Amino acid sequence: MGLLAVYGVPGASTYIYYGLHNLQHRGQEGGGIVTFDKDGESHRYRGQGLLSEIFTNGELNHLPGSMGIGSVKYANAAKGGLDNVEPLFFHHQSGDFAIAGEGNLINARQVSEYLERHGSIFQTGTDSELLAHLIKKGNKEDRIVRIVKALNMIEGGFTFVIMTRNRIYACRDKYGIKPLCIGRMGDGYVVSSESCAFEIMGAEFIRDVAPGEIVTLDHHGVRSTLYSHFNRHRMCAMEYIYFARPDSDIDGCNVHAYRKEAGRRLYRECPVEADMVVGVPESSLSAAMGYAEESGIPYEMGLVKHKYVGRTFIQPVQSLRELGVKMKLSPVRSIVKGKRIVLVDDSIVRGTTSLKIVKLLREAGATEVHVRIASPMMRFTCHYGVDTSTPEELLCSHRTLEEARQAIGADSLGYLSPESTRDSCFGCADPCQACFTGEYPTLLYDEMVEND
Ligand code: SF4
Repeated sequence: MGLLAVYGVPGASTYIYYGLHNLQHRGQEGGGIVTFDKDGESHRYRGQGLLSEIFTNGELNHLPGSMGIGSVKYANAAKGGLDNVEPLFFHHQSGDFAIAGEGNLINARQVSEYLERHGSIFQTGTDSELLAHLIKKGNKEDRIVRIVKALNMIEGGFTFVIMTRNRIYACRDKYGIKPLCIGRMGDGYVVSSESCAFEIMGAEFIRDVAPGEIVTLDHHGVRSTLYSHFNRHRMCAMEYIYFARPDSDIDGCNVHAYRKEAGRRLYRECPVEADMVVGVPESSLSAAMGYAEESGIPYEMGLVKHKYVGRTFIQPVQSLRELGVKMKLSPVRSIVKGKRIVLVDDSIVRGTTSLKIVKLLREAGATEVHVRIASPMMRFTCHYGVDTSTPEELLCSHRTLEEARQAIGADSLGYLSPESTRDSCFGCADPCQACFTGEYPTLLYDEMVEND
């Protein structure tokens, strides 16, 4: 999911729309925008699909106001449908509010059971609705106190933006697993999942929202409240490795710089003799450049990506994923024919894509294909909202390195170590690597441990 919020900028919905376009890589299944106008009236529009498919008939003209929040949603088979497209909107006697969130609550089941025992009925399967009900419960207290209490009842990796008639709250989990940052835009402010949204909006990066922090944006400016004094910087390593855009800076580390450094380290840890380095477009290109730079092996464009095809990893159903692989990449036959190739990819989840790419390159005439992965072997499930699927589906959950090599049909296979995955952050974070190491930064609930 990608989140965006704008406070104090006339025509906020248009800026949110363009900002969300730069977050579209975080979700292509749906999106929406909610605004409050100067009279305190709310306006909302949302739909399924890409933003360009949702906002087609001048809907932005019907979203007036200088404050708003928006989101793009990624595919999640368990939480599909328009009802689960955010932002959600709630009418309440204490004041209407909208909310959008990213990530996953590890105690969602316990929280929903608690709320149901106290009379709540849910319309969606979202964590945002759970948080909305928790905030609503302490009706007589100040809203910030209710938000602090509500956030202390949830556990996991998440960010939320909450909008009332006169202010916006931006919240980040106390483990710092999910990214969120603030920018300045004229006399107003912007909050975004990634700083790459700021460029297109004409906003200037101010800082990351800190783990365990609630940032309040209103006519007082920017105010900060810590909802928890327990805080860690355990940013999701997969944000640096795969999810985020290379032009984003997260917790003080540029994503392209991270990937390039990971590629350099990958060569030092897993060298191989070859004629050219080829990166799997788009998220592996920076790592491939780093590998080529360190090894002295020429970097070549041996694969071309077809534009306008969604990411295979986040398609909801396996059959669609497999079709997606065929549709999205072509080998450049005249470049790869007769050559020994180092194929650099950011990660292997199920192995479906890797197997097909190795096959594509061989069919195009490559004599050897050595696969190098700029992250460790993915063996465990993510509990923080990244759909890495069940352990049975993961290529490496039950295979040795040699068995994984055979499964994808490569001549050799090498992975980056967890130490280098951490150190490629240039010391600015100790990222969560639980899907590689099984060491989760949060406590887990019994049913999650059973499922691993
Ligand atoms: S388990 Fe993996 S995908 Fe999930 S938050 Fe940690 S690093 Fe990211």
